[in-house]
Amino acid sequence: MPASRNILVLYTGGTIGMQQSAEGLMPASGFASRLREQQDQQPQLTLPSWQFRELLPAIDSANMNQANWLAMVEAIRAGVEQDGCDGVLVLHGTDTLAYSAAALSFLLLGLEVPVLLTGAMLPAGAPDSDAWSNLFGAMHALQAGIEPGVYLYFSGKLMSGVRASKRGTATLDAFGVAPRLRQGKRAPGIPATLDYRQPRRSVSLAVLPFYPGIEASHLRALLACGVQGVLLECYGSGTGPADDAELLAVLKDAHERGVVLAAISQCPQGHVEFGIYAAGSTLAATGLISGGGMTREAALGKLFALLGAGLSQAETEHWFALDLCGERAD
Ligand code: ASP
Repeated sequence: MPASRNILVLYTGGTIGMQQSAEGLMPASGFASRLREQQDQQPQLTLPSWQFRELLPAIDSANMNQANWLAMVEAIRAGVEQDGCDGVLVLHGTDTLAYSAAALSFLLLGLEVPVLLTGAMLPAGAPDSDAWSNLFGAMHALQAGIEPGVYLYFSGKLMSGVRASKRGTATLDAFGVAPRLRQGKRAPGIPATLDYRQPRRSVSLAVLPFYPGIEASHLRALLACGVQGVLLECYGSGTGPADDAELLAVLKDAHERGVVLAAISQCPQGHVEFGIYAAGSTLAATGLISGGGMTREAALGKLFALLGAGLSQAETEHWFALDLCGERAD
C-alpha cells in the first residue's frame, strides 16, 4: 500500500483537545498549534507532513449529527481533491466516534485514500493521556501505508470503520471490533448513486430496540412522525413480539407507506436470520429487511448513506442487503 506523505488532519473536537471548565471538560479550538508544539518537542518522531483543518465550532461528539457527517465529507473531499492530501486523519470525540467511522465508510465509498478516525479518553496534556499516542500512532499507520477505506485507530489498534464500537468508559483501550462470523453477500460493485461525490440530504431515522413490554402504540407514535427509516434491534436471530397482531399491522402499514424497516440483532455477536424461528418469519413478513451481522453504528450509517442519496425504498432495501465495505459479516 502506498505510504501517505501529505495528511489532512481534520479536527472536529472531542476530549482529545478539550480544556477544563467550571462545568467540566469543554471542546476547544486552536489544536493545530498544540500539535505542532508537541511534534517539535519530540524531534525523534518521523511524521508525514500534515495540514490542519478545523470544523467550527469544535464539538463534544455527543452533539454529532448528520450535518456534521456531511461537513466532514466535504472537508475531506476538499483536502484530497483540491489540496492533494493522500491520507486523512479525523480527530473526534470518542462517544460517537464509531458512528462517524461507520457513516463515513459509506459516505466515502469510492474515495481512493485511507481515512482514519481517532480521539482520546483523556485530554492532551492530562497525566497519562492517550491523546498523543493515538494521534501519532494513527499518523504512523498512515505513513506505513493502508488500503483506501475508513478505519478507526485507537490504543494501538487499527479497526474496520464498519465493525468497531465503543466498549468502555474507564479504560484507554475503549474500542473493540464485532467478530466476523460469516461473510456477507458482496455487492458486485459500488453503484454510481453511492459514490462519495453524490450529494446527500438529511434523513429522518430512528433506532428502537425490542424489549419485553413494547406496545404497538409506542411503535405507532414513532412511525407517525414522518420517519423514513427505522432500525429495529431485534432479539437473538431476528425475533420480536410476533404474537402481537396490532404491532405487526403497524409495521406492515409503515412499510406499505414507504418506510424502510431494517433489522439487526441486539446480541453483540448476533446476526439476523429471520427463518430460524416462526417469530422471526412472521416479523419479517411485515417488510423488515435483514441487516445480517451489522452493528448498530454500521446499519444506521448505511441507512443514512442510502436514503440520503435519494434511493427509493426498494433500492435502499436492495443495497442494504448486500455487503458494500465489509459491514454485514453475516
Ligand atoms: N464526550 C466526549 C466526546 O465524545 C468524550 C470523548 O471524546 O472521549 O466528545
